[in-house]
Amino acid sequence: MPPPEFFHQGELVGVLTTQPLGRALDYKAPEGGCHLGAFVEVPLGPRKVLGVVWGAGQGDYDLSKVRSVIRVLDAAPMREELRSFLSRAAAYTLTPMPAMLRLATRAPGLGDPPSMRKIYRRGTAEPDRMTDARRRVLATLADYGDLSFTLKELAEMAGVTSSVIKGLVAQDAVIEQDSPRDVPFARMDPTLPSKELTADQAAASALLAKGVASETYATTLLRGVTGSGKTEVYLEAVAAALKAGRQALVLLPEIALTEQFLHRIAARFGTKPAEWHSGATMTERRRIWRMVGQGNAQVVIGARSALFLPFQNLGLIVVDEEHDTSYKQEEGVLYNARDMAVLRASICGAQVVLASATPSLESWANAEAGKYTRVELTSRFGPAVMPKMGAIDMRAEGLPSDKWVSPTLRAEVDKRLERGEQAMLFINRRGYAPVTLCRACGHQIGCDDCDARMVEHRFLKRLVCHQCGESKPMPEACPSCDATGKLAAVGPGVERLGEEAAALWPDARVATLSSDMYGSARALKAEIAGIAEGAADIIIGTQLVAKGHNFPNLTLVGVIDADLGLMGSDLRAAERTFQLMRQVAGRAGRAETPGTALLQTYQPDHPVIRAILAGDEEGFWKAEAGERRQAGVPPYGRMAGIILSGPDVAAAFDAGNQLARQDGPLRAVGAKVYGPAPAPIARVRGRHRVRLLVKADKSAPLQDALAKWVGQLRLKGDLRIAVDIDPQSFY
Ligand code: ADP
Ligand code: ZN
Repeated sequence: MPPPEFFHQGELVGVLTTQPLGRALDYKAPEGGCHLGAFVEVPLGPRKVLGVVWGAGQGDYDLSKVRSVIRVLDAAPMREELRSFLSRAAAYTLTPMPAMLRLATRAPGLGDPPSMRKIYRRGTAEPDRMTDARRRVLATLADYGDLSFTLKELAEMAGVTSSVIKGLVAQDAVIEQDSPRDVPFARMDPTLPSKELTADQAAASALLAKGVASETYATTLLRGVTGSGKTEVYLEAVAAALKAGRQALVLLPEIALTEQFLHRIAARFGTKPAEWHSGATMTERRRIWRMVGQGNAQVVIGARSALFLPFQNLGLIVVDEEHDTSYKQEEGVLYNARDMAVLRASICGAQVVLASATPSLESWANAEAGKYTRVELTSRFGPAVMPKMGAIDMRAEGLPSDKWVSPTLRAEVDKRLERGEQAMLFINRRGYAPVTLCRACGHQIGCDDCDARMVEHRFLKRLVCHQCGESKPMPEACPSCDATGKLAAVGPGVERLGEEAAALWPDARVATLSSDMYGSARALKAEIAGIAEGAADIIIGTQLVAKGHNFPNLTLVGVIDADLGLMGSDLRAAERTFQLMRQVAGRAGRAETPGTALLQTYQPDHPVIRAILAGDEEGFWKAEAGERRQAGVPPYGRMAGIILSGPDVAAAFDAGNQLARQDGPLRAVGAKVYGPAPAPIARVRGRHRVRLLVKADKSAPLQDALAKWVGQLRLKGDLRIAVDIDPQSFY
């Protein structure tokens, strides 16, 4: 029986809180009653905590001790759709509900009364004396009569000082009033003209728009090379959602949230969308959270956590660059935003568009199996063509050991510089050098708390651990043998490559794009925008630049170490390298000038490198799919990673061995457990890490079995367990 939709004062309600408590607790509905899904404040011991009315109370607790809900918060109750999404996402990822609820309430001050600010409108009186400045203020208000301005905005728009406005207020020519800060976002206009679409693009967008108009669930894989117009196409799906009176969410990898992108949306719909990301201020987050719930934010652009916003009527989720690994949250709640987007859409009758130039094998396989519709854009927009791909065989280049730009690549860069075009050198390693070695004793400087080497970041003048983020100053003497002047940087990072480029091309403007060098994401975005407009001749970058940025004058990309990703035993190593190389190569030649991508490699005959060079994507996917099917690994089998971690390595192993022995619940569903083994990075932040891996058939009911299996373990002391469903990384 479904729970009642409303509870009268004194009736028992079950309230789920964000506190780690296992279950919803019973409370009495407050005066005036409360709706199912209402956000409430409840007493918990001596504290007041936030909660959601999750259903009727269980009634299994001494009634005389049941306390009352303190108050109902002024926010739209959580809809059935979102409650059901959180429950199912929790079940899928084996996450406790309170942690799931925390993801959905990541906005501060949800319970506070609306905060106010002063706004300014045209008053009824005329000023005693008209000046130019005053005239401009009144004209601005007349032009934008339906908008409300803050003092600063109005002063800026009218080009006057704030005292001019205050003077008009004194005469009632302008009215000053209090208005809530959480104001609706401007309405978007889907009827503004789109770009004139090519036949391919028009067909794709018509198909997506039709799906959205049907107001039912389906997922479409929108595949097309970089620059083929995927964004133009999915913006038409957004338009269709707006026309149907529904909301749209566009998920982007965090770093791809650029001004450029916001401007494109504003150009298409007349106003900027709500922007949800880690850099948003508390006030912004609160405003978005509330407005989304009221339907007063129609389009949200966001990083993965935007998926947990309380949309009023979500009709479309776009996951741009769907293969991007940053969609997988690797700390706290381990979830994949791409997969959870599909889950949420299936619950609320929305469409999903997964856009990528290089889809994940998971999505490719779902399309092959007919679960997703596949739509292709086969050519780049306009005269731009795909870059020419070539390999530079490093075995023949004879480079000294501390240089990384081959003579062949150097000559190609020279040509671009002569023609006034841009070139990019790509290396997927942050910092200056991955290893600091003592030439006297052979010691390599490692992190005190992790089983990892420290990476020199010369710009910061520090050694940084990429596992835990700990850093320390570069020492003068070797920490092991005390020899001074013997520490040497080994191997290249993006900063070192920048140094080499500056020496090779002293007259060129070299820009190194590394997140270290810019105080904030905003500063980095500004730098990237400047480079796109021609502020640099040579761009040195990491993965950061491979994501969605548009450099119209870039015609050459040189990949310094194309083999890097092929080392290591990760099941997705080939796929990742393939995607990254295609993505990086796609940066070249987006505008009218054709591009070239050159891969420096010591293994030009490696099958992955050959597939990249040949541009034979379909062939690559088929071969990769064949191998994975054979091995029974994702997407053709299921996996879960178990990480036990604690200060005591023996205790972690004991627990791991106990799990391995008590594998009854897993065997019952045909799943098999491997390990325990020390994790590849056996110590992080002082905690020893032990891994187990569970493999099962695709159809096995793995979650229930895992829950039972892990539930047998009593965690002692400071031992922790994390279950990672569909693991993406195996460190
Ligand atoms: P993708 O998302 O596939 O990388 P975009 O949608 O960003 O491709 O398109 C690449 C560039 O080409 C953008 O600057 C875009 O505005 C432009 N473009 C794409 N299609 C059209 C079109 N039909 N008319 C005009 N410009 C277009
Ligand atoms: Zn560390």
